Amino acid sequence: MGDGDRKKTQEVPRRSPPGNEFMGRTVLLVDDDPAQLAHVRDGLSPYGYTFREANNGAQALSAIRENRPDLILMDVEMPGLGGVEVCRIVKANGGEGGFGFIPVILMTARQAAGKVEGLELGADDYLVKPFDMLELGARVKSMLRLKVLQDALVEKNRELDKANKELARKREELLALSRTDALTGLFNRRYFEERMNEEFLRARRYQSHLSLVMLDIDHFKRINDTFGHPFGDEVLKAVAQTARARLREVDLLARYGGEEFIALLPEAAPTDALRACERVREAIENLEVVHPRADGTRQSVRLTASLGLATVPATDLPSAETLLRAADASLYEAKGAGRNRVHQHPGGLT
Ligand code: GH3
Ligand code: MG
Ligand code: MG
Ligand code: MG
Repeated sequence: MGDGDRKKTQEVPRRSPPGNEFMGRTVLLVDDDPAQLAHVRDGLSPYGYTFREANNGAQALSAIRENRPDLILMDVEMPGLGGVEVCRIVKANGGEGGFGFIPVILMTARQAAGKVEGLELGADDYLVKPFDMLELGARVKSMLRLKVLQDALVEKNRELDKANKELARKREELLALSRTDALTGLFNRRYFEERMNEEFLRARRYQSHLSLVMLDIDHFKRINDTFGHPFGDEVLKAVAQTARARLREVDLLARYGGEEFIALLPEAAPTDALRACERVREAIENLEVVHPRADGTRQSVRLTASLGLATVPATDLPSAETLLRAADASLYEAKGAGRNRVHQHPGGLT
């Protein structure tokens, strides 16, 4: 080590600053007495804080609004707006939309009786003049520590809030996904069955109509065999869209399995439901699904579907299960009668 280096080492202050982990933090000093203000500033200067100063309560408030300090060190006895009033305003505006948390240390010449008053009014700490500079330094530091912790807490809460919202969104997404048939985007069978039982109970309780429709594409195997399975999938999507478009918004349409669809029509009496089924059947009959050939030309593929319909209330359909079976039996009849038609369960009189 050369002479120059040794000299440099000796230049380092013998007493290191009393603590600088909060160096650069902004401390607002408020006092109507310039000498007292200078005294406090000098006492805190080794800590490396950034100081801002105000000579009265009004100045203090505009300084706080302009640039929120990390700490306010404020005289109680000032002409006009006193330290206690300013403190009250700062604390009353401590919410997230306001100043946030700013610790306030009040300084007063008054004796212990005033201490209680100050703390009750929301000051975070209280010093009685004249005070020891080391004590002031320690109090300021502990308040800054509180400020930093509080800010971190607020930030963590904000992050937690955000994470919670994201989680809720994901949960919604997952729920929707768990109810959806991946190919057609319609509801899946599991969700349909869940809803079917609910709707059945509701219809029974309110004595309202509930119609159930089963739809099965005619000779779908041929479509697959002729044009390939991927094209069959396209047909399923087209049929799903077509049926969805012909039903009311309150009607629940689901893919029941392979090329079978199922629908619940709440508040649909037998005649209304039959009309809805006819609409769907006709729309499918008129549907053209375009199949692109290998040679670049396109072929329009036509298809039909058969539908079975049953409606409650009906004396012979006491449960959701029997309602479903009745619609399925009607569908089977429609197939047997030549396909591309709607068959309706006659239903017992209620
Ligand atoms: P029917 O008029 O009697 O209903 O005759 P069909 O050929 O439609 O009836 P069947 O139940 O014998 O055939 C249904 C076919 O649907 C068999 C199966 O390969 C096909 N299939 C089931 N699920 C899918 C699917 O997700 N995509 C495709 N492309 N085909 C499917
Ligand atoms: Mg004063
Ligand atoms: Mg089938
Ligand atoms: Mg079929």
